[in-house]
Amino acid sequence: FFLDKVSGLLGLLRFTVGPELVREVLLERGWEEYDEGEREEEDWNLYWRGSAFRTSEYHNLLPWQRLNHHPKTIGITRKDCLARNLRRMKAALGSSLYDFSPTVFILPNDYTRFLAEYNKLRLVRGPYWICKPVDLSRGRGIFIFEDIRDLAYDCSVIVQRYISNPLLISGYKFDLRIYVCVKSFHPLTVYIHQEGLVRFSTEKYNLSSLHNLYAHLTNTSINKFGPFYRTDKGKVGQGCKWTMSKFRHFLHSLDINELLLWQRISNIVTLTLLTIAPSVPSCPNCVELFGFDILIDAKFKPWLLEVNYSPALTLDCQADITVKKGLIGDLIDLMNYTAIDGLRERAYQKHRYKQPCFNTNHASHISIPVISQLKEPKLQRKRRGSKAQQTQTLPLLKPLRQVGDFIRTFPFNRATLKASQHKLDVTAIIQELHKLTGHQHSDKPVTYMHMTLVTERKNNNYIVTA
Ligand code: ADP
Repeated sequence: FFLDKVSGLLGLLRFTVGPELVREVLLERGWEEYDEGEREEEDWNLYWRGSAFRTSEYHNLLPWQRLNHHPKTIGITRKDCLARNLRRMKAALGSSLYDFSPTVFILPNDYTRFLAEYNKLRLVRGPYWICKPVDLSRGRGIFIFEDIRDLAYDCSVIVQRYISNPLLISGYKFDLRIYVCVKSFHPLTVYIHQEGLVRFSTEKYNLSSLHNLYAHLTNTSINKFGPFYRTDKGKVGQGCKWTMSKFRHFLHSLDINELLLWQRISNIVTLTLLTIAPSVPSCPNCVELFGFDILIDAKFKPWLLEVNYSPALTLDCQADITVKKGLIGDLIDLMNYTAIDGLRERAYQKHRYKQPCFNTNHASHISIPVISQLKEPKLQRKRRGSKAQQTQTLPLLKPLRQVGDFIRTFPFNRATLKASQHKLDVTAIIQELHKLTGHQHSDKPVTYMHMTLVTERKNNNYIVTA
C-alpha cells in the first residue's frame, strides 16, 4: 500500500523520460510508479513529461489524472513566440508596462528592421547584441556581438539587445531562476516559489571579451565545465549557484530593500502569462512549472530573458538539492491531490467517467466530473439535485494564498480575482497592474505581500480565510 504522506493519496506516477528528482520525491512520499503491464490504462494520477503532450492526451484525461503541462504554452516558452507575443501586447497596451524585455528581432524575417535599429543606435553609441537560436536551450548556439559583420546564423534565431550593464557580485554576472507554477489558466492562478536559484558566470564580466561565454552566460550547463568553476570567486564562493535565500541575505547585508524588486518580478510574470492566457484551452487537471530567467541590471531593473518549458531539475550542487527538492514537494502539494484521487478504479467503475477535463472554448467556467461525491456528505448531495450529480461548476473561490514556499501572486487583490474568474478580463487586470506600478513609483508598495491576510495552517498548506 503506497500512501502519499501529506494527502493520504494512493498515488501513481506515470513517467516518460522525466527528471529523476520527481520520481525520487514522489517515491519518498509513498507514491508508486505506474506499470503499464500491471495496471489499467487509466490507473495513474500524475503523468510527468519533459516534452509536450499530444492534444488527444488532454482530451482523454480523467478526473484523478494530472499532467505537468498546460496545452499551448509554447507561446511563451519558445524564444520567437515569446518575442512575438510580447511585441503584440506592447503594441496593444503600450510600452509602459511591457518594458521588461530587451528589444528583440526574429531573424531572418525581421532582418531589415534589425538593420534599421542597429544603424540608428550605432549613431549614438555602439550597443551590444546577443544572438540565440529560437528553439535551443542551455546556452547552446548563443553568441554576443557588437559589429553586424559578426552576425552569422543558419537557423531561425532571435537577436536581442544585450543588457551590458548587469548587476555584478564581486565582478561576476548572474541571473535569477524564478520558479513559477501556473495552477490554472482559467481562472488564471499563479504561484511563485520563494526559493529560486541565482546562477553565476564563472569568469569576471568584461565587455572586451565578448567571446568568453564563461564571463557572459550564466547557464550552469556551460559554467560547470569552466576552468574556474571550483575556484573561490570572492563573495560568490565556489561553484556557480546560490539559493535565493542566500541572495536575500546578501541584499539585506547591503541594506537594500528587495521588496520593490520582487514586486516588479511578480508583475513581469503576470504580464508575460497574460500574453497567452486567453488562448490557452482550459484544462483544470494540468499544472505547469515554468522557469523564468530574470537578469537584474546595475540600476536594479529586472529584465525577462526567457521562459523555460521544462526547467532543469538535475542536481549539480547543494543549492540545487536544497531548492529543487523542496520545490517539487511543494508542487505536488499544489496539485491538491486528496485521498479520493486514490480511488481511481472504484470511481471509474461506478460512474464510467469518460468525460474529458479539457475545454477548448477557453471559457473559464469549468465543469468537472464530481469525483468528490464519493465522499460527499449525504445532505449536501441531496441539496444539489440530480443535474449537479453529473457535473459541478467550480465556485468562485479564492485560491490558497500559500502552499509550502509557493506564494500566490495572481490574483493579487479582489479586483484581479474578479477579473480572472469568468472570462479573463485582461483590460481590468492591466488597469490593476497600472495602479500597482503607479504606487510603486510613488514608493508605496501595495502588492499581495501587503494585503491583510489571516492564514490558517492545514495539512502543511496555508488557507486564506480573510
Ligand atoms: P538558453 O535558453 O539557451 O539558456 P537564454 O535566453 O536563457 O538562453 O540565455 C542564456 C544566458 O545568456 C542567460 O542566462 C544570460 O546569462 C545570458 N543572456 C541572454 N540574453 C541576454 C541579454 N539580452 N542580455 C544579457 N545577457 C543575456
